[in-house]
Amino acid sequence: MSARVDHDLVIVGSGFSGIGMAIAAQRSGRDYVILEKADEIGGTWRDNRYPGCACDVPSHLYSFSFEPNPYWSRAYATSDEIQDYLLYCVEKYGLRDSIRLRSTVQRMTFDEGLGAWHVTVGTPDGDSYQLVAGAVVLGVGALHDPVLPDIPGIESFQGEVMHTAAWDPGATMIDRRVGIIGTGCSGVQAIPHLAEDAKHLTVFQRTPIWVLPKVDPAYPEWLVDAYEKRPWLMKAHRAKIKAANELRVLAFTKQPLLLKAASKAALAHMRSAVKDPQLRAKLTPDYTMGCKRITMSNTYFPALARDNVSVETSSITGADATGVTTADGAHHDLDVLVLATGFDVSGSYRHLNVTGLAGHTLEADWDAGIESYYGVTVPHYPNLFLLLGPNTGLGHTSVVLMIEAQIGLVTKLLDARDHRGATAVTVRPQVVPAHMAQLDERSKATVWQSGGCTSWYLDEEGRNRTLWPGSVVEYERKLAGPELVDYEFTGALDG
Ligand code: NAP
Repeated sequence: MSARVDHDLVIVGSGFSGIGMAIAAQRSGRDYVILEKADEIGGTWRDNRYPGCACDVPSHLYSFSFEPNPYWSRAYATSDEIQDYLLYCVEKYGLRDSIRLRSTVQRMTFDEGLGAWHVTVGTPDGDSYQLVAGAVVLGVGALHDPVLPDIPGIESFQGEVMHTAAWDPGATMIDRRVGIIGTGCSGVQAIPHLAEDAKHLTVFQRTPIWVLPKVDPAYPEWLVDAYEKRPWLMKAHRAKIKAANELRVLAFTKQPLLLKAASKAALAHMRSAVKDPQLRAKLTPDYTMGCKRITMSNTYFPALARDNVSVETSSITGADATGVTTADGAHHDLDVLVLATGFDVSGSYRHLNVTGLAGHTLEADWDAGIESYYGVTVPHYPNLFLLLGPNTGLGHTSVVLMIEAQIGLVTKLLDARDHRGATAVTVRPQVVPAHMAQLDERSKATVWQSGGCTSWYLDEEGRNRTLWPGSVVEYERKLAGPELVDYEFTGALDG
């Protein structure tokens, strides 16, 4: 480690991204620290503990390639099991001593003379301190800052209000009148569990969601044994899932019509559980499948068909002490209001107050239009790397694959910087517009932009700024052999 910095690498966030980056840093002998604002590691899997929370990507693929886990109990692990996996990784790789919990990054300013970042870190007692970092990796995730709907009068509601990402583990729905706003992935997973316990559940639905059956077998002991004793078998299983999922990308990015067959299966799935034609009409999406993230559940439609569940499509206009009112004038008495209303995807970078070269701030730059190079580097921000940054989310397979590709790129760029005796590496501003234009062009054909819906994938102008409009294999290939001429290396140490 150079004497001019406190740490070679400051990693912000301790979800899959932060943990993966720390393991890579450790392997390449870089001194690092992880700053985590919560009181435990885990990111989205620490935060999302609502009943029914699980991953919708098979766990043998939604895990690190270098740390396969034979013990997944079923195809799609629950959030608890994924959190346990991340805790296991932290212990196995001895990361714990390098993690500072309850440490919130308040400000980051690049020091051009030093070629390093001054990172201001807030502590729980209201104090702050500064770290000097040779490079910063932001693994802060996009699904992080809950969106709270703006309901007039909500502050007067006397019942409980809970976002799915801030679940009160002690909360009970038994014998209570529960309302839930939102029928995205989180809503679809939570609703069957709430319906079982609640005296009455009112589902406030703004847009219906496509729901496919879920094939989610529990793994028998003999299979877990086989994976444990023959890791090649588990690797083959992972490769099979990766290949099968990759094929789906064509339907999302080039040929949404390919989703027709899947749409028919989803409608049949609904018909088999919902006999009431009026309810079916309410639940039938009018946009192309895949435009919003496709959900999978065998229990969602049966839950909505229960006697103690009603689906309300009239929009919420206000709240008072006892419940909410909808546009049709009805009042819904509630004891609990669950918000499954998603996340502000641009919010996670905003509160970091990042200032780069020549007074550039990430907030102002991105307010003018989000730009990055392969979602990892941003012009004017040397030695700053994003994991799962813009346009690197996925609709068809595991984002852990993207994270690993990005960690590989970060490692290569830092190695190249050090090898050249430079202090800073930055993407050249002139290569980024063409990259963004290409993303825009490719996004036009995708179901996310052409499927006739709105979603958190799109910015205010309807442009995809969230998902990678191609296959993971293509992305992996691009990042594995980066064109180093696209990057500027500055601040030679040994002149
Ligand atoms: P989401 O997909 O953004 O869905 C939010 C839901 O709330 C939508 O139904 C939305 O309606 C509704 N909503 C938001 N504001 C509203 C308002 N003011 N009034 C009425 N309805 C409102 O959020 P999410 O379900 O939490 O999922 C977010 C992402 O998290 C997913 O896309 C996925 O990537 C990830 N996730 C993954 C898993 C997993 O299994 N891996 C599980 C959960 C979440 P509109 O559709 O009309 O906007």
